[in-house]
Amino acid sequence: MQPTSKKCQYFTDSVIRRMTRIAIEHDAINLAQGFPDFDPPKEITDRLAEIAPIGPHQYPITMGAPNFRQALAKKCGKYMGRTLDPETEIVVTIGSTEAMVDTIFALTNPGDKIAMFSPYFENYVAQAIMADCEPVFIPLVPPEFNFDPDVLEDVFKKGIKAILICNPSNPSGKVFTYDELKLIADLCIKYDVYAIMDEVYEHIIYPGHKHVYMNSLPGMWERTVSCSSMSKTYSITGWRLGYAIAPQPLMDKIKQFHDFNAVGAASPLMEAAIAGLELPDSYYDEFAAHYLHMKTIFTEGLDSIGIEYTDPQGAYFVLANIGQFLKKGQSDVEFCEEMAKKVGVACVPGTSFFKEDVNNIVRLHFAKKDETLYEALNRMADIKAKMA
Ligand code: GLN
Repeated sequence: MQPTSKKCQYFTDSVIRRMTRIAIEHDAINLAQGFPDFDPPKEITDRLAEIAPIGPHQYPITMGAPNFRQALAKKCGKYMGRTLDPETEIVVTIGSTEAMVDTIFALTNPGDKIAMFSPYFENYVAQAIMADCEPVFIPLVPPEFNFDPDVLEDVFKKGIKAILICNPSNPSGKVFTYDELKLIADLCIKYDVYAIMDEVYEHIIYPGHKHVYMNSLPGMWERTVSCSSMSKTYSITGWRLGYAIAPQPLMDKIKQFHDFNAVGAASPLMEAAIAGLELPDSYYDEFAAHYLHMKTIFTEGLDSIGIEYTDPQGAYFVLANIGQFLKKGQSDVEFCEEMAKKVGVACVPGTSFFKEDVNNIVRLHFAKKDETLYEALNRMADIKAKMA
């Protein structure tokens, strides 16, 4: 038999998604893969019920249903502070994952380097490798997750093609300030580098922080692709509705890859999700307030158990230090599997996110109903004894 792809040896399955399967196996509360257990807005589910008997049920226009793209242009344009052309500057994808893959394929050639901050969302490395690119890393130094501008510029000097930024960041919870983004933007312009943004947590921002869209910075619209999705903002992660926003010259290329990778996103779901995009501004305020509420429950709970964690500025994750519970020689992957089984709470091992050598960190998310969070905290209260 012919050998299979050499690339397979450079990445495994997603450990985040593997932990979901392990959570189900052990009936553990899934604080591993980030998704809510509360309902999406009623406007969206009511609309889904309404259109079930009437459709659309057939192939959409491959770049996304025109009315869905119009609604996206209106909502995203408002938050980005620019007029977006739904025909030429937006493509609807199968989650923002596909938006990122199409973008990486469209902007790079085999052998190109793609920079990313570490810790990073595990999809990025696999996506870079799938496109025959080499990931290069810039450390975000805990606990503040700041970066050293000189280290950053050194990475640009290596001749990178693109920098991939998750803002707000998964898993660190960092929200890049205007000044930080400006510094990165200036380097992108100086070294002729594309910015590929993963902005799926754009509406999950905690008090004292503000989301700034990279494509709104001077000189950056031309070289930025903003990838986002309906998943987090409207609590419909299973609908797999994402999108990319970019200037037409880049978008034309991204669309070529989307066309043959995906054909199109689900027609009835795009139709129903328009109801989400048409929600008033107050929806986003209440949504952020709800996340603050969940964060407070969860972090106060971790405080009382005595587990150290990073306090996120945005998104819905904490990185917790589990060093005190680790057995000698135990890897964080083994720890997480044992924790799902014995404690009944699933989390993700830190090694999935860090380029650096870490073995005492796990990621937990708190996008859950109050009662789910209280139950998870209750199960974790005697974690030391359970993991002994
Ligand atoms: N972004 C979520 C997480 O990091 C979901 C990941 C995924 O499976 N797409 O957990």
